[in-house]
Parts: sequence; C-alpha cells; structure tokens
Amino acid sequence: MPDELGIVHVYPELLGTYGDRGNVLALVHRAAARGITARVIEVALDTPLPRDGDLYLLGGGEDSAQLLAARSLLADDRARSVLAERPCLAVCAGFQLLAHRFEDADGQPQPGLGLLDVTCGRLARRAVGEIVTEPEDLPGVPTLTGYENHRGTAVLGPRARPLGRVVTGVGNGRDGWEGARQGHTFATYLHGPVLVRNPALTDLLLSRVVGELAPFDDTDVERLRDERLDAADPRRHRARRALLGHWAA
Ligand code: GLN
Repeated sequence: MPDELGIVHVYPELLGTYGDRGNVLALVHRAAARGITARVIEVALDTPLPRDGDLYLLGGGEDSAQLLAARSLLADDRARSVLAERPCLAVCAGFQLLAHRFEDADGQPQPGLGLLDVTCGRLARRAVGEIVTEPEDLPGVPTLTGYENHRGTAVLGPRARPLGRVVTGVGNGRDGWEGARQGHTFATYLHGPVLVRNPALTDLLLSRVVGELAPFDDTDVERLRDERLDAADPRRHRARRALLGHWAA
C-alpha cells in the first residue's frame, strides 16, 4: 500500500459537470476514514499526466470541452500507458474519451484513447434524468443510482464488460447495458456524483489500490440512496410512503 494515496484528477477545469468533482471528495473522505491520507493532483489541459498517481479520475463535460480534452489526451504520448496501468474512473465525457471513438456535436467521429474496447455514437435525443442500474458481476456492490445527461451511446466490444444493466434510464443506449469496465478501468454515464451515491463503488476503487478496507457506517448515505431510488421509481416511492404511514392523508 502506498504511504499516501495519489488521486489524479484529469482536467478538472474542463471535465466536471454535475458535480463530478464530488467523486474525488468521496475517495478522499472514505480513505481518510480508514486512516489513509490522500493527495489530490489536478492536471491542467495540455499538461502530461503524472506517472506516479495511484488512481485516476475523468469527469463529464460539454461537447466542446470534451473535444479539447480529447486533443490534449491524444497529444500526451504517455496518457494511454499511464491510464492503462492504474485504476481509473471515467464519467460520461470521460467514458467516451477512453473509447475507440465518439461523435462530436456535428455527429462527426472523433478518436478517443482506445483504452476501452468501446465505440460511442449519438442518441437520437439527449438522455436526461435519474438512472438506476443493477451491477453486473461486481460482488458487494448493490444497485447503482445516478443522474444522466448525455447524447453519447456506447457499444461494447468483446474485451469490455458492462458495469451494470439499466433498470430505469438510458445508459449506453439500446442494448440495456450501462457503462463499461476493462481491467482496472471503470467507466459510466452516471453522475450524481456516482461515488457519493454509491459508496460501495468508491470502496471497490480504493480497494484496488490499498487492499481490503475496514467497514464504514453508511447509514446517512443509505438514506440518500433510498431517496434517489424512490425518485427514479414512483411505484417504489408510493410503496415506501405507505409503509411509513404518510399515505393515509
Ligand atoms: N458531451 C457528452 C454527451 O453529451 C458528455 C456529456 C456529459 O459528460 N454529461 O454525450
């Protein structure tokens, strides 16, 4: 285990829509609760990614910001190897940037880093709203909740696996899957921030670096999770209100 956990936040000034910076805070917070000090390294656009990080994060971004980020990453000749070697979480625009290709605002294909065996296209209409997914083969990780706002799709090739199956929302598009993972790389369309809403996923990423983690009291987060799951599913909301006795009036 490293003495200090090095969290590399890639292009935070460009890639950070819908509070994705919260993913960094969640990692720092949950690491600190286990006595692990974390150091956050913010990497500016057109600056090479440092090699000495333990965990790398890329957030979401507007189409134009995403294009700038793509150019910067592709011009950084070590970005691909650095990101391939270390655990990484990429959200929305970040997800598309790690794919073979994504489409820009004009529907033109643009190269990504090709770290994930994924090709991204465009949805006919922007997907906006709460999203719920069931994790695919991620032991100990319960239902994932998030917020999505994207035009991008994702079609997975044989080397990538989905992160989850969509229960409510759009995710990768037509095939009912959400996100991708390949080796240590995790990618998702879920904002929320996804690591705040889904602490088990935060711990999964942390454990890839530091090994087994001590338990953490998630009572407060569970309340938030229940609220968000209700918001995504009105039937669940009504059933729970009835159970709590709020429904009689
Ligand atoms: N610009 C991308 C899209 O619309 C990513 C959006 C995002 O990161 N929220 O698909």
